[in-house]
Parts: sequence; C-alpha cells; structure tokens
Amino acid sequence: MKIILIGPPGAGKGTQAAAIREIYPAAHISTGDLLRDNVRRGTVPGLEARRYMDSGSLAPDDLIINMMKDRLAEDDARIGFILDGFPRTTAQAEALDAILSSMQTGLDAVLMLDISDEDVVRRLSGRRVCVSCGAIYNTVNRSPEKEGVCDSCGGAVIQRNDDHEPVIRRRLAVYHADTAPLTAYYDKKGLLRRIGASEAPDAALLFLETLKGAI
Ligand code: AMP
Repeated sequence: MKIILIGPPGAGKGTQAAAIREIYPAAHISTGDLLRDNVRRGTVPGLEARRYMDSGSLAPDDLIINMMKDRLAEDDARIGFILDGFPRTTAQAEALDAILSSMQTGLDAVLMLDISDEDVVRRLSGRRVCVSCGAIYNTVNRSPEKEGVCDSCGGAVIQRNDDHEPVIRRRLAVYHADTAPLTAYYDKKGLLRRIGASEAPDAALLFLETLKGAI
C-alpha cells in the first residue's frame, strides 16, 4: 500500500492516515511531523524550516526532498507508506517519482481530500495539540479533561503557532497556488481519487471504501 494524501491543512489527512493504518500495514510519513521533530531537536534542517513554518510558507524543496529520501529508505517504508503533506509542489512530486523508480516501486493511489476554506479555518483555529505525543484536541467538542494537559501522556496541550487565523489563511493561499495543481499531475497518471472531507467520520469510511476499490 503506497499512497499519498493531498488536501489543504486541516482536511484531516492525519486522521485518515491513522484509520488506514488500522487496516493496512504502512508507515505514516508526515513531513510536517518530521519537520516539527527537527525543530524540537534543534537540527540544522529544523532551524532552517522553522521560519517558513511559522509564517505559513513552504520550506525549500531541496530540504524536504533530502529529508524524504532518507525517510523512504527506512525499512518500515519499504513495506508501504501513507504520505501526508508530501509532495506539496510539482518539483517534490517529480523528485518522489525519481526516488520511487530508483527503489523499483510506484504509487497505488493519490487521495485528495476536498474541504472548503471556511471549514478549514473553523477546524484549525480550534485545534490544540499535545507537544509530547501529538494527540489532537479541539475547543468545540474535544478538550482535555484538565485544561492544557494531555489526557494520554500528561504533556502540554497547546495551539500550534501556525494554527492562528492569519497564518491559516496564508497556508490556504499557498495550498491553492502550489499544491492544488498536483491534482492534475496525478490525474494524468490515472492515480487520483477525490473524497469529501467536510464530514470527518463519513469521510473516513468513504475514504477506506474508495481505497479498497482503487488498489
Ligand atoms: P503540516 O503539518 O503538514 O501542515 O506542515 C506544517 C508546515 O511544515 C507547513 O506549513 C510548511 O511550512 C512545512 N511543510 C510540511 N510539509 C512540507 C512540504 N512537503 N514542503 C514544504 N514545506 C512543508
């Protein structure tokens, strides 16, 4: 199972990836999570990426491509992967094609999660995350029992710097300009499937059904 999840920030790519992994063995690879881990550890790529992340712009292609080359070479990714947040530009998509062909493999499907900009803003401005284990909460219907403390691991639950409305709007603009054109790239290859993501639970089910039909 080698698939890509494409969709604007807040479309639920991480949630869908977790649902898929319950059924299919595959590494969930999120470039956003990899970058945040690098930022936390203070690595050189992390320090470079941070200023782009905080402003809602994309980190440079070569930084991301090198990071993904290493990640895709790890054992768990050889069995299968779900890419979440990568590729985000045509240059990244072309680099991924080259990496996969050098590994003598290819993609099974590219799933595109459709959601309106206003739904994204509503979802992300209420999102809260645990800095230790990554658990996701929201201010509407899923707050931790003790404010600011993760129910699962006791870590700090915070609002990500890039989940403030002006930055969310910037991330959406970047998505429409740089990432949405990838749908045509993968459509031409016959790999693209579109899924409505506004209703999260329905989307997860539909997503898996579509996936079974796609492989
Ligand atoms: P995400 O958690 O996927 O929304 O990613 C958070 C931020 O990390 C993005 O707003 C970008 O600054 C950066 N980022 C993540 N993935 C990529 C990528 N494939 N290309 C460039 N920047 C990325």
